[in-house]
Amino acid sequence: MSAGPRVAVFGSVNMDLVAYVDQVPASGETVTGTAFRQVPGGKGANQAVAAARVGAEVSFLGAVGEDSFGGELRANLLANGIDVSGLRTVPGVSGVAHIVVDGRANNSIIVVPGANGGVTGTVEGDARIIEGAAALLLQLELPMEAVAAAARTGRELGVPVYLTPAPARELPAELLESVDVLVPNQHEAAAITGRTDPAEALAALVELVPEVLLTLGGDGSLYGRRGAEPVRVPAFRVEAVDTTAAGDTFCGSFAVARAEGRGPEEAMRFAAAAAALSVQRHGASSSMPTRDEVEALLGG
Ligand code: ADP
Repeated sequence: MSAGPRVAVFGSVNMDLVAYVDQVPASGETVTGTAFRQVPGGKGANQAVAAARVGAEVSFLGAVGEDSFGGELRANLLANGIDVSGLRTVPGVSGVAHIVVDGRANNSIIVVPGANGGVTGTVEGDARIIEGAAALLLQLELPMEAVAAAARTGRELGVPVYLTPAPARELPAELLESVDVLVPNQHEAAAITGRTDPAEALAALVELVPEVLLTLGGDGSLYGRRGAEPVRVPAFRVEAVDTTAAGDTFCGSFAVARAEGRGPEEAMRFAAAAAALSVQRHGASSSMPTRDEVEALLGG
Protein backbone atom coordinates (compact mmCIF):
# COMPACT_ATOMS: atom_id res chain seq x y z
CA MET A 1 0.00 0.00 0.00
CA SER A 2 1.34 3.47 -0.81
CA ALA A 3 2.08 5.55 2.26
CA GLY A 4 -0.95 7.53 3.32
CA PRO A 5 -0.98 10.40 5.80
CA ARG A 6 0.36 9.65 9.28
CA VAL A 7 -2.18 9.68 12.09
CA ALA A 8 -1.38 9.43 15.81
CA VAL A 9 -3.91 7.96 18.23
CA PHE A 10 -3.45 8.46 21.97
CA GLY A 11 -6.04 6.36 23.75
CA SER A 12 -7.42 3.22 25.32
CA VAL A 13 -6.92 -0.37 24.37
CA ASN A 14 -9.03 -3.12 25.94
CA MET A 15 -9.75 -6.78 25.57
CA ASP A 16 -13.50 -7.18 25.16
CA LEU A 17 -14.84 -10.38 26.73
CA VAL A 18 -18.35 -10.85 25.40
CA ALA A 19 -20.77 -13.40 26.87
CA TYR A 20 -24.15 -14.00 25.24
CA VAL A 21 -27.06 -15.04 27.45
CA ASP A 22 -30.83 -15.24 27.10
CA GLN A 23 -31.27 -13.29 30.31
CA VAL A 24 -28.72 -11.35 32.35
CA PRO A 25 -28.27 -13.06 35.76
CA ALA A 26 -29.54 -11.32 38.88
CA SER A 27 -27.14 -10.77 41.78
CA GLY A 28 -26.14 -14.16 43.23
CA GLU A 29 -27.53 -16.08 40.24
CA THR A 30 -25.57 -18.21 37.77
CA VAL A 31 -26.85 -18.73 34.25
CA THR A 32 -25.50 -20.69 31.28
CA GLY A 33 -24.43 -18.54 28.37
CA THR A 34 -25.00 -19.36 24.73
CA ALA A 35 -21.71 -18.08 23.25
CA PHE A 36 -18.49 -16.25 24.09
CA ARG A 37 -16.16 -14.07 22.06
CA GLN A 38 -12.88 -12.39 22.95
CA VAL A 39 -12.16 -9.38 20.73
CA PRO A 40 -9.67 -6.51 20.89
CA GLY A 41 -11.37 -3.20 21.59
CA GLY A 42 -11.07 0.13 23.35
CA LYS A 43 -12.06 3.31 21.55
CA GLY A 44 -8.46 4.36 20.98
CA ALA A 45 -7.40 1.07 19.44
CA ASN A 46 -10.61 0.95 17.38
CA GLN A 47 -9.98 4.38 15.88
CA ALA A 48 -6.37 3.41 15.18
CA VAL A 49 -7.42 0.26 13.31
CA ALA A 50 -10.11 2.18 11.38
CA ALA A 51 -7.56 4.76 10.23
CA ALA A 52 -4.99 2.09 9.32
CA ARG A 53 -7.48 0.03 7.30
CA VAL A 54 -8.42 3.01 5.14
CA GLY A 55 -4.78 3.68 4.34
CA ALA A 56 -3.15 5.86 7.00
CA GLU A 57 0.18 5.17 8.58
CA VAL A 58 -0.87 4.98 12.24
CA SER A 59 1.09 5.39 15.47
CA PHE A 60 -0.65 4.26 18.66
CA LEU A 61 0.18 5.70 22.08
CA GLY A 62 -1.21 4.11 25.23
CA ALA A 63 -0.60 1.28 27.66
CA VAL A 64 -1.26 -2.42 28.14
CA GLY A 65 -0.61 -4.59 31.18
CA GLU A 66 1.92 -7.37 31.70
CA ASP A 67 -0.78 -10.04 31.38
CA SER A 68 -1.43 -12.24 28.36
CA PHE A 69 -4.08 -9.82 27.05
CA GLY A 70 -1.38 -7.15 26.81
CA GLY A 71 0.59 -9.28 24.37
CA GLU A 72 -2.50 -10.09 22.33
CA LEU A 73 -3.61 -6.45 22.16
CA ARG A 74 -0.16 -5.37 21.02
CA ALA A 75 -0.13 -8.15 18.41
CA ASN A 76 -3.52 -7.05 17.08
CA LEU A 77 -2.31 -3.50 16.53
CA LEU A 78 0.85 -4.78 14.86
CA ALA A 79 -1.20 -7.12 12.65
CA ASN A 80 -3.02 -4.02 11.40
CA GLY A 81 0.30 -2.42 10.46
CA ILE A 82 0.20 0.05 13.36
CA ASP A 83 3.40 1.46 14.89
CA VAL A 84 3.38 0.53 18.59
CA SER A 85 6.62 2.23 19.64
CA GLY A 86 4.46 4.50 21.85
CA LEU A 87 2.55 1.60 23.45
CA ARG A 88 3.89 0.98 26.94
CA THR A 89 3.70 -2.28 28.88
CA VAL A 90 3.10 -1.51 32.54
CA PRO A 91 2.83 -3.69 35.68
CA GLY A 92 -0.66 -5.03 36.36
CA VAL A 93 -3.58 -5.97 34.15
CA SER A 94 -4.62 -4.70 30.73
CA GLY A 95 -7.89 -2.86 30.23
CA VAL A 96 -10.76 -5.31 30.04
CA ALA A 97 -14.41 -4.82 29.09
CA HIS A 98 -16.78 -7.49 30.41
CA ILE A 99 -19.78 -7.36 28.10
CA VAL A 100 -23.01 -9.31 28.54
CA VAL A 101 -25.39 -9.36 25.60
CA ASP A 102 -28.89 -10.63 26.35
CA GLY A 103 -31.45 -12.26 24.06
CA ARG A 104 -32.78 -8.86 23.00
CA ALA A 105 -29.28 -7.64 22.03
CA ASN A 106 -29.12 -5.27 25.03
CA ASN A 107 -25.62 -4.80 26.46
CA SER A 108 -24.44 -4.56 30.06
CA ILE A 109 -20.79 -3.57 30.23
CA ILE A 110 -18.19 -3.40 33.00
CA VAL A 111 -15.00 -1.67 31.92
CA VAL A 112 -11.98 -2.25 34.14
CA PRO A 113 -9.47 0.36 32.94
CA GLY A 114 -6.36 -1.53 34.11
CA ALA A 115 -3.30 -0.17 32.31
CA ASN A 116 -5.40 2.57 30.65
CA GLY A 117 -6.18 3.99 34.08
CA GLY A 118 -2.48 4.33 34.81
CA VAL A 119 -1.93 6.65 31.85
CA THR A 120 -2.00 9.95 33.69
CA GLY A 121 -0.07 12.08 31.22
CA THR A 122 2.26 12.01 28.28
CA VAL A 123 5.76 10.54 28.68
CA GLU A 124 9.08 11.33 27.11
CA GLY A 125 9.00 10.23 23.52
CA ASP A 126 5.26 10.82 22.98
CA ALA A 127 5.82 14.28 21.51
CA ARG A 128 8.31 12.86 19.02
CA ILE A 129 5.66 10.43 17.79
CA ILE A 130 2.90 13.05 17.64
CA GLU A 131 5.10 15.62 15.91
CA GLY A 132 4.56 15.73 12.16
CA ALA A 133 1.36 13.66 12.25
CA ALA A 134 -1.51 14.90 10.08
CA ALA A 135 -3.98 14.33 12.94
CA LEU A 136 -4.04 13.35 16.61
CA LEU A 137 -7.11 11.33 17.66
CA LEU A 138 -8.24 11.38 21.30
CA GLN A 139 -11.19 9.88 23.24
CA LEU A 140 -12.13 9.90 26.92
CA GLU A 141 -11.31 6.34 28.01
CA LEU A 142 -8.04 7.50 29.60
CA PRO A 143 -7.79 9.74 32.69
CA MET A 144 -8.79 13.31 31.80
CA GLU A 145 -5.39 14.75 32.70
CA ALA A 146 -3.71 12.45 30.18
CA VAL A 147 -6.15 13.41 27.42
CA ALA A 148 -5.62 17.09 28.20
CA ALA A 149 -1.84 16.69 28.19
CA ALA A 150 -1.91 14.92 24.82
CA ALA A 151 -4.23 17.57 23.36
CA ARG A 152 -1.87 20.29 24.57
CA THR A 153 1.07 18.48 22.98
CA GLY A 154 -0.81 18.21 19.68
CA ARG A 155 -1.74 21.87 19.77
CA GLU A 156 1.83 22.96 20.59
CA LEU A 157 3.15 20.92 17.68
CA GLY A 158 0.54 22.26 15.26
CA VAL A 159 -1.11 18.85 14.80
CA PRO A 160 -4.93 18.98 14.31
CA VAL A 161 -6.51 17.50 17.46
CA TYR A 162 -9.71 15.41 17.16
CA LEU A 163 -11.66 14.53 20.31
CA THR A 164 -14.40 11.92 20.53
CA PRO A 165 -16.03 12.88 23.86
CA ALA A 166 -16.92 9.30 24.84
CA PRO A 167 -17.78 8.11 27.36
CA ALA A 168 -19.60 11.41 27.95
CA ARG A 169 -18.01 13.41 30.77
CA GLU A 170 -17.72 17.03 31.63
CA LEU A 171 -15.14 18.64 29.36
CA PRO A 172 -12.74 20.96 31.16
CA ALA A 173 -12.04 24.27 29.40
CA GLU A 174 -8.37 23.40 29.55
CA LEU A 175 -9.00 20.41 27.26
CA LEU A 176 -11.42 22.16 24.91
CA GLU A 177 -9.01 24.96 24.17
CA SER A 178 -6.62 22.48 22.53
CA VAL A 179 -9.27 20.66 20.47
CA ASP A 180 -9.72 21.44 16.77
CA VAL A 181 -12.45 18.96 15.84
CA LEU A 182 -15.01 17.56 18.30
CA VAL A 183 -16.68 14.33 17.12
CA PRO A 184 -19.63 13.45 19.40
CA ASN A 185 -22.58 11.21 18.68
CA GLN A 186 -26.06 12.51 19.44
CA HIS A 187 -26.04 11.30 23.07
CA GLU A 188 -22.66 12.83 23.81
CA ALA A 189 -23.66 16.10 22.15
CA ALA A 190 -26.81 16.19 24.30
CA ALA A 191 -24.79 15.43 27.44
CA ILE A 192 -22.42 18.34 26.71
CA THR A 193 -24.99 20.91 25.61
CA GLY A 194 -28.25 19.81 27.24
CA ARG A 195 -29.84 19.98 23.73
CA THR A 196 -31.34 16.90 22.13
CA ASP A 197 -32.11 18.62 18.83
CA PRO A 198 -29.03 18.00 16.60
CA ALA A 199 -29.07 21.45 14.95
CA GLU A 200 -29.31 23.17 18.34
CA ALA A 201 -26.59 20.97 19.85
CA LEU A 202 -24.34 21.71 16.86
CA ALA A 203 -24.92 25.44 17.20
CA ALA A 204 -23.91 25.26 20.88
CA LEU A 205 -20.84 23.10 20.20
CA VAL A 206 -19.35 25.35 17.50
CA GLU A 207 -19.09 28.01 20.22
CA LEU A 208 -16.70 25.68 22.11
CA VAL A 209 -14.33 24.39 19.40
CA PRO A 210 -13.49 25.40 15.81
CA GLU A 211 -15.07 22.38 14.07
CA VAL A 212 -17.76 19.89 15.10
CA LEU A 213 -18.72 16.63 13.46
CA LEU A 214 -21.93 15.29 14.99
CA THR A 215 -22.81 11.69 14.11
CA LEU A 216 -26.48 10.73 14.00
CA GLY A 217 -26.44 6.93 13.55
CA GLY A 218 -28.63 5.88 10.63
CA ASP A 219 -29.50 9.55 10.10
CA GLY A 220 -25.99 10.37 8.94
CA SER A 221 -23.82 13.22 10.17
CA LEU A 222 -23.78 16.96 10.57
CA TYR A 223 -20.69 19.18 10.33
CA GLY A 224 -20.41 22.70 11.62
CA ARG A 225 -17.99 25.58 11.90
CA ARG A 226 -18.64 28.87 13.61
CA GLY A 227 -20.31 31.34 11.27
CA ALA A 228 -20.80 28.80 8.49
CA GLU A 229 -23.90 26.90 7.32
CA PRO A 230 -23.96 23.33 8.70
CA VAL A 231 -23.33 20.51 6.22
CA ARG A 232 -25.45 17.35 6.42
CA VAL A 233 -24.49 14.06 4.81
CA PRO A 234 -26.92 11.10 4.95
CA ALA A 235 -25.92 7.61 6.03
CA PHE A 236 -25.81 4.86 3.43
CA ARG A 237 -28.99 2.78 3.52
CA VAL A 238 -27.78 -0.62 4.61
CA GLU A 239 -28.94 -3.54 6.73
CA ALA A 240 -27.12 -2.93 10.04
CA VAL A 241 -26.33 -6.08 12.02
CA ASP A 242 -23.89 -4.64 14.60
CA THR A 243 -23.24 -0.93 15.10
CA THR A 244 -20.39 -1.46 17.61
CA ALA A 245 -17.58 0.99 16.81
CA ALA A 246 -19.54 2.68 13.98
CA GLY A 247 -18.54 6.03 15.48
CA ASP A 248 -14.90 5.02 15.81
CA THR A 249 -14.82 3.85 12.19
CA PHE A 250 -16.44 7.12 11.14
CA CYS A 251 -14.05 9.33 13.12
CA GLY A 252 -10.89 7.46 12.07
CA SER A 253 -11.90 7.51 8.39
CA PHE A 254 -12.96 11.15 8.46
CA ALA A 255 -9.62 12.23 9.94
CA VAL A 256 -7.72 10.28 7.28
CA ALA A 257 -9.80 11.78 4.47
CA ARG A 258 -9.26 15.30 5.81
CA ALA A 259 -5.53 14.61 6.20
CA GLU A 260 -5.50 13.67 2.52
CA GLY A 261 -6.82 17.11 1.71
CA ARG A 262 -10.52 16.38 1.19
CA GLY A 263 -13.04 18.99 2.28
CA PRO A 264 -15.48 18.28 5.13
CA GLU A 265 -18.36 17.12 2.93
CA GLU A 266 -16.29 14.74 0.86
CA ALA A 267 -14.60 13.42 4.02
CA MET A 268 -18.04 12.84 5.60
CA ARG A 269 -19.10 10.77 2.58
CA PHE A 270 -15.89 8.74 2.79
CA ALA A 271 -16.45 8.18 6.53
CA ALA A 272 -20.13 7.31 6.00
CA ALA A 273 -19.13 4.65 3.49
CA ALA A 274 -16.56 3.17 5.88
CA ALA A 275 -19.04 3.14 8.78
CA ALA A 276 -21.81 1.68 6.59
CA LEU A 277 -19.53 -1.21 5.67
CA SER A 278 -18.62 -1.80 9.33
CA VAL A 279 -22.24 -1.93 10.58
CA GLN A 280 -23.04 -4.70 8.11
CA ARG A 281 -20.60 -7.04 9.86
CA HIS A 282 -20.29 -8.27 13.43
CA GLY A 283 -17.44 -7.10 15.66
CA ALA A 284 -15.55 -3.91 16.41
CA SER A 285 -12.14 -3.59 14.76
CA SER A 286 -12.65 -6.88 12.91
CA SER A 287 -15.63 -5.33 11.08
CA MET A 288 -13.76 -2.31 9.74
CA PRO A 289 -13.37 -2.01 5.97
CA THR A 290 -10.27 -1.58 3.84
CA ARG A 291 -9.60 1.36 1.57
CA ASP A 292 -10.57 -0.66 -1.50
CA GLU A 293 -13.92 -1.61 0.01
CA VAL A 294 -14.69 2.02 0.88
CA GLU A 295 -13.77 3.21 -2.61
CA ALA A 296 -15.83 0.46 -4.22
CA LEU A 297 -18.89 1.60 -2.24
CA LEU A 298 -18.23 5.22 -3.22
CA GLY A 299 -18.03 4.11 -6.82
CA GLY A 300 -14.41 5.34 -7.14
P1 ADP B 1 -21.61 5.87 17.69
O1 ADP B 1 -21.22 4.52 17.20
O2 ADP B 1 -20.50 6.65 18.28
O3 ADP B 1 -22.85 5.89 18.55
P2 ADP B 1 -23.28 6.73 15.45
O4 ADP B 1 -24.29 5.72 15.90
O5 ADP B 1 -23.74 8.15 15.36
O6 ADP B 1 -21.98 6.71 16.37
O7 ADP B 1 -22.74 6.26 14.03
C1 ADP B 1 -21.65 6.86 13.40
C2 ADP B 1 -21.83 6.81 11.89
O8 ADP B 1 -21.93 5.45 11.48
C3 ADP B 1 -23.08 7.48 11.37
O9 ADP B 1 -22.87 8.86 11.12
C4 ADP B 1 -23.35 6.71 10.07
O10 ADP B 1 -22.60 7.23 8.99
C5 ADP B 1 -22.85 5.32 10.41
N1 ADP B 1 -23.97 4.48 10.85
C6 ADP B 1 -24.36 4.20 12.12
N2 ADP B 1 -25.46 3.42 12.14
C7 ADP B 1 -25.78 3.20 10.84
C8 ADP B 1 -26.82 2.48 10.17
N3 ADP B 1 -27.78 1.82 10.84
N4 ADP B 1 -26.83 2.47 8.79
C9 ADP B 1 -25.86 3.12 8.09
N5 ADP B 1 -24.87 3.82 8.66
C10 ADP B 1 -24.82 3.86 10.01
